[in-house]
Amino acid sequence: MEVTSLSAINRNYFNQSSINNSTQTKTSDYKNDSIELTHKKKKLSNTQKLGIAFGVALSALGGLTACALLTKSGKFNPANFEKHIDFKPAQTMEEAKDFAKKHFKIERFELDNDLEVANWVNEGLTNINNTFSGKAHLPVSVSFKDNAQRNAKNYAVADINIGGDLRIDRQLFNTEDTIKDFRETMEALNKVGVPQGTDVNKLLDIEERLAPMLQNPSQYSKIEWMKISQEFEDVGSLYRNPMGVLSSMWENPKTKETLIESGINLNLREIFTKSPDEKKKILDDCIAVLNKKYKFVGLQSKDRFLSEFDVIYHEMGHLQNWGNSSIFDIFFGKLSNNKHQLNKFTNNFDKQQTAGKVSWYAQTSPQEFVAEVFAQLCNGRKPSSDILELYKHYNGVLV
Ligand SMILES: [Zn+2]
Repeated sequence: MEVTSLSAINRNYFNQSSINNSTQTKTSDYKNDSIELTHKKKKLSNTQKLGIAFGVALSALGGLTACALLTKSGKFNPANFEKHIDFKPAQTMEEAKDFAKKHFKIERFELDNDLEVANWVNEGLTNINNTFSGKAHLPVSVSFKDNAQRNAKNYAVADINIGGDLRIDRQLFNTEDTIKDFRETMEALNKVGVPQGTDVNKLLDIEERLAPMLQNPSQYSKIEWMKISQEFEDVGSLYRNPMGVLSSMWENPKTKETLIESGINLNLREIFTKSPDEKKKILDDCIAVLNKKYKFVGLQSKDRFLSEFDVIYHEMGHLQNWGNSSIFDIFFGKLSNNKHQLNKFTNNFDKQQTAGKVSWYAQTSPQEFVAEVFAQLCNGRKPSSDILELYKHYNGVLV
């Protein structure tokens, strides 16, 4: 987390409109989700938002009886794949199917004729397999979503059901749409400036990598386009979470001092119990104070989309989590998404602080927390001890 004056980096981003108007609204529809660059929009409930980003199709109860993962004891029954598999991109779709079948026993591997996506899936699964020495469970089927799944209420770019069917939306790889969105969004950002609180370093980094891509779009693979668009989606992530922004400000000695000088004393535990609107109001006040001193307050967003395989890692995180849980835990107990259970997680200050170290999305529910930590493990990250403790508490798998 960093809050500094970054005005030397790129003047484009710091025109008067962005400095003086921290509450401007710039919402652009962005691919699989809509990126919210301000915290003004409040049409969606948190639960709806989390359904939009990634998600779990837990409604697919039909798969329950078919699920070999769930044991009566709710204890993890490790898979038994090869400890290490070498991945080489397949040259044909048949080869890719054979690879999935031979190494991961995936019988249904239906990704039209999209060899790039097929190789992406197989490489991602290979990475998971190798990270967990063959003990991680992998999907029983991989396919693109059909129209009904695409129009489902809890739409997500990819999901997995409890029976182990991994489904991916083709739209995630719609390079044409991605490019169009990027052009429009970049143009808009240059025009109105970047809203306060944006992770400017990340944004500038993306813009730098994006420039040559936009000049020669066809030279880049659909996987590269997907990766950069996912990263971009995360730039505005802090706006989904005013409490997270306030906590970050209070942890930073520079901003804390500035706020105290202005007579603002943030009692985070107390603020935590306030309504979303009240939290936003406090955040606005703090930003207004910081504006005077720093002109621009940039926040560092947390680590999501560390690699192009994060979508796969995340979904497989759900699968391990379920395989390490009893049916009771998943549907009625600590992992349940019913309001009562969910509140125990989202209304708990300490749990939220811990989950916030992982990502904003990890804060939305115990299941998403576990999936997000799993993705970090697959990326070779070593989560801190409080994260690991909470991860284990919610039946996260380490093997
Ligand atoms: Zn998820």
